[in-house]
Amino acid sequence: MIGMSFADALFVYFLLWLIFLAILWWRELSRVKSYEWHLSNSRLFHCDSCHHSFIIKEAVNLTRCPRCNSICICRNRRDLE
Ligand SMILES: [Zn+2]
Repeated sequence: MIGMSFADALFVYFLLWLIFLAILWWRELSRVKSYEWHLSNSRLFHCDSCHHSFIIKEAVNLTRCPRCNSICICRNRRDLE
């Protein structure tokens, strides 16, 4: 039989729960950081024909709308800065 009192067992129990919660918290923080969005002016496009807003991966000034296939020009927007 293990020579441990009830208070020691309770302390170990809460310590293990604290370690478990710290691991879950660290995992959630790393997961949120990896899926975080980085929105910038060069990536957000707005189609003037169909009013569809979309994000592209490359930093270009001219692209085609994925919905209506018309040419979209990147304009500088002050509200996103
Ligand atoms: Zn469009």
